[in-house]
Amino acid sequence: MSFELPNLPFASDALEPHISANTLSFHHGKHHNTYVTNLNNLVGDTDKNLEDIIRESAGDPGKAGVFNNAAQVWNHTFYWNSMKPGGGGAPSGGVATGIDAAFGSFDKFKEEFKNAAVTQFGSGWAWLVVDGGTFKIVKTANANTPIVGGQNPLIACDVWEHAYYLDFQNRRPDYAQAFLDHLVNWDFAASNLE
Ligand code: FE
Repeated sequence: MSFELPNLPFASDALEPHISANTLSFHHGKHHNTYVTNLNNLVGDTDKNLEDIIRESAGDPGKAGVFNNAAQVWNHTFYWNSMKPGGGGAPSGGVATGIDAAFGSFDKFKEEFKNAAVTQFGSGWAWLVVDGGTFKIVKTANANTPIVGGQNPLIACDVWEHAYYLDFQNRRPDYAQAFLDHLVNWDFAASNLE
């Protein structure tokens, strides 16, 4: 079995004007696809699932290529699902409860999530995760992913420059704000909480 590039969960122009079809054509069609191709070239025919490959290769210098590509395949699929056309706004149910308990208010959460996205130095990711029952915001560098540490991700925001440079150039704060205000998919977060 080899790994395949999943389809985007929305049309390529569905996130405009915040994330353009042009960005998605490169980000999904080129970057994400390249991680899938590289992973298949490295692992060949395998019965292992993606999560097992990520956990088995994490922290092994001899398997850095496998880890980086496998984790980036997983992270990007999670990121596409973390957004939807007409997203943003406030969550409800258990996600809202968890956010209020951890951060005090939804506005405070947005401030802290945006700060994490902006201050991740260089390439990486901002995440909302559940860790031991508590909601936390975490940053990871490059391909690193919270599933390695046993945290349960609810939402991911890709802060590699390829995620926003065509639409926002160097304005990562504006991209992070647009993600929170117009794109974040709280239904997906709720499904990850179950
Ligand atoms: Fe990316």
